[in-house]
Amino acid sequence: WAKAEGRGRWAVYDPERSARDIARSALAAGLPAALDRGEFVLHYQPIVSLLDGSMRAVEALVRWRHPELGLIGPDRFIGLAEETGLIVRLGAWVLERACRDAEAWWRSFPAARLVVSVNLAARQVEEPAVVEMVAGALATSGLPAELLQLELTESAVMGTAGEPLRALHRLAALGVRLAVDDFGTGYSNLAYLRRLPIHSLKLAGPFVEGIRAGDADGPADHRDERIVDALVRLAHALELWVTAEAVETVTQAERLRALRCDTGQGRWFGGPVPAEEITARLRGDAVTV
Ligand code: C2E
Ligand code: MG
Ligand code: MG
Ligand code: MG
Repeated sequence: WAKAEGRGRWAVYDPERSARDIARSALAAGLPAALDRGEFVLHYQPIVSLLDGSMRAVEALVRWRHPELGLIGPDRFIGLAEETGLIVRLGAWVLERACRDAEAWWRSFPAARLVVSVNLAARQVEEPAVVEMVAGALATSGLPAELLQLELTESAVMGTAGEPLRALHRLAALGVRLAVDDFGTGYSNLAYLRRLPIHSLKLAGPFVEGIRAGDADGPADHRDERIVDALVRLAHALELWVTAEAVETVTQAERLRALRCDTGQGRWFGGPVPAEEITARLRGDAVTV
């Protein structure tokens, strides 16, 4: 692999690296059985209106309850699942589970009209049966299509052509909402964006991170704030909703609200939690309204 790393590096045996590779393959090899044994769980993170603080949606985030390693986050296995192709089956499970949970919330708290937002890997959008898979999850659960949002990364939608692009249009035609995830981290072609059947943009964490009040660490740098301002205006000009990701402080929440960002998601509004905690929050909201 010295060659793959390029720039005239020497091929050096790196025991730490090979241990890591072995651990990676072991994890990958365990994925299919873990799915069959029901070791995956979904946590849900609130997406909150910056205008009135109401919970508008929840994002489904998958975790692996590993028998030896404990709860493992998606950053450690989603990539592996994409490489091995298991993401198609895992993603279908995530979607079905999320639709069933969302249908239960809709039935108990119809006025909340809580949307469930589910991540779709690029590999899933390329799957010929993706539209049938989504339509099937809606039909089986009984969840109204407009209460489902699908999150696609910028790289998954940009430059999409042919069959995957038709699939996006057919998904939109089902009545589900499509969102571009981590917007601003990848390559964005604005002319192309305009032609996609999308409903919202999720502004990537790094822009939000740059929004801070001046403090002991130094004066505030307003460049990220101006970028967010421009992106929110752009999104609204294209009639898209904007969600800010990784909102961690009250300063960020207030600035984002002033910049007319529609919704926010992040530790400030609450981290990812098991479904029952979302139910409890809906119950609390219903009482205070
Ligand atoms: P994402 O879709 O951008 O999800 C948001 C990530 O930001 C989540 O990490 C969430 O826990 C984290 N986060 C929440 N609040 C904060 C905050 O205040 N600050 C910061 N810095 N981060 C925050 P998580 O759960 O580890 O998920 C990581 C990524 O894994 C997701 O990024 C998504 O790309 C992928 N993923 C998760 N679940 C699924 C899934 O079911 N299918 C697919 N294809 N990908 C998934
Ligand atoms: Mg994580
Ligand atoms: Mg996401
Ligand atoms: Mg994201």
